[in-house]
Amino acid sequence: MLALCKIEEGLGGVAVRSVEPRDAGAGEIRLSIGAAGICGTDMQIYNWAPRMARRMKLPRVLGHEASGVVDQVGEGVDDIKVGDHVSLESHIYCGVCRPCRLGRAHLCNATTYPGIDIDGVFADHVTVPARIAWRNPPDLPHEVAAMLEPFGIAVHACLEGSGVAGQTVLVNGCGPIGLMAVAAARALGAARVFAADLNPLRLATAEAMGADRALKADETDVVAAVRDMTSGEGVDVGIEFSGSEAGFRAVFESLCKGGDFRLVGAPPAAIPVDFTWWLLKCPRMINIHGRRIWETWQQATELIHAGAVDLGPVRSHVLPLSEAAEGFELIRRGEAVKPLLVPGA
Ligand SMILES: [Zn+2]
Ligand SMILES: [Zn+2]
Repeated sequence: MLALCKIEEGLGGVAVRSVEPRDAGAGEIRLSIGAAGICGTDMQIYNWAPRMARRMKLPRVLGHEASGVVDQVGEGVDDIKVGDHVSLESHIYCGVCRPCRLGRAHLCNATTYPGIDIDGVFADHVTVPARIAWRNPPDLPHEVAAMLEPFGIAVHACLEGSGVAGQTVLVNGCGPIGLMAVAAARALGAARVFAADLNPLRLATAEAMGADRALKADETDVVAAVRDMTSGEGVDVGIEFSGSEAGFRAVFESLCKGGDFRLVGAPPAAIPVDFTWWLLKCPRMINIHGRRIWETWQQATELIHAGAVDLGPVRSHVLPLSEAAEGFELIRRGEAVKPLLVPGA
């Protein structure tokens, strides 16, 4: 089968190769991939950023966001059948550590990921533990189902803490998950949703996803604009996706007293914080890591099935697997939001 592999350390270093698909072993399923999404984590690996990427053994098939049809079921798997349509949770949780036993599998002490620790989904087939499969109705298009994993992070971010209903929300950073958070906040009853980013394509997409105002952060003073639109009070909820120090500060300063600061984007380096600001403003700090398993999946899919959220505008390109490297370059050039890869297209 064809597979997009990271073959060399450093920037780029990817190639489409012919790889043998692996049979499903005990407790595993094999999927015939319908669609797979390129995400920020894949970009970090492509760019060979510190942290996750550096623990990889190469060559490795990349990718962890996917939808497909089960074509093999290993021994001991009885809740998933051949022919089932599934999306994948990307956290391969152990199920037995303390966080897992406390119902916080998204914080599992031993989490591993397809596309990093085992071969991933940018291929015709992938073989994974059956416990990370989420069954979909067969009429849900693969191109939507492949985006449920990132959409879950957006829904998780909107439902933690005080939620969003009846509140003003700032989404800072309009990559795919930020854009999905704009739509999720809208669907979950936010009073108003403001979005900020630097990239014009992303800002136009934020408007298509339901943002009341899309703020170009290098041309508009985001903090002043947000204050202006909230009678000087600031927003109730600020969700930080950019991972940048400027973004972190903009969200903090845009927040009302006692508001929710929800941190999703991982800063690449330490950000200095003056805790006197913290004492004076008393925000509630909430970190969002992955999706609650399976609570968030249930909530996220209900929003999709109800038609309350349309993820269509986030899917900017659909490329055959053979042109996967172009998908990475489109993102690098700021010309794509979420490219999907489709095997055999
Ligand atoms: Zn991802
Ligand atoms: Zn665990």
